[in-house]
Amino acid sequence: MSSSLERLEKIGKEVTLLTFSPLYQYRLDSRSLPVIGEGNSEAKILFIGEAPGKNEAQTGKPFCGRSGKVLDDLLQSVNIKREDVYVTNVVKDRPPGNRDPLPSEIEMYAPFLDRQIDIIKPRVIATLGRFSMTYIMKKFGLETAIQPIGSLHGKVFEAEALYGAIFIIPLYHPAVAVYNSHRIDELKNDFKILAEYAKK
Ligand code: URA
Repeated sequence: MSSSLERLEKIGKEVTLLTFSPLYQYRLDSRSLPVIGEGNSEAKILFIGEAPGKNEAQTGKPFCGRSGKVLDDLLQSVNIKREDVYVTNVVKDRPPGNRDPLPSEIEMYAPFLDRQIDIIKPRVIATLGRFSMTYIMKKFGLETAIQPIGSLHGKVFEAEALYGAIFIIPLYHPAVAVYNSHRIDELKNDFKILAEYAKK
């Protein structure tokens, strides 16, 4: 059996060769890179955003632009090192003009995220924004509990993954703090909850 790192790398190679993706041609035209994910392959906490933005598609690294700076500050506020967590997105290629990912794009890339979850086996899945919240809650049988993110952020849901019990914590997307500074306090509070559950 190959290591978790090797299995994650295999996902990276497969996504890179995803020529039939509706976002593949845009990746080539915009000289972009796919963004597979980054961090500890055995992380206790997995953060899932929606899709790479411009900076991410230029570097191939998740959350490395303005939202990434907010994420780094939030992690620091609860003494969690970014290299100890794993950060990825539902959709691995940048949608043109940073538009929202389409349902068909989420469907195409979600199997890669599913595999990442089964390899990393996080105890806590923290979703960043409504797209990953909706996907993850549906995946783990919490469809009927889905509400607007304004009602669910910072709440903790228990679920059963293939490898054991997990906590799912919906969070606002860090980008909300870039445009709306009072959201940072809500995010900071939610990160305190996240840090507590990561210890359980
Ligand atoms: N927004 C996301 O959802 N993901 C990133 O990687 C960057 C910005």
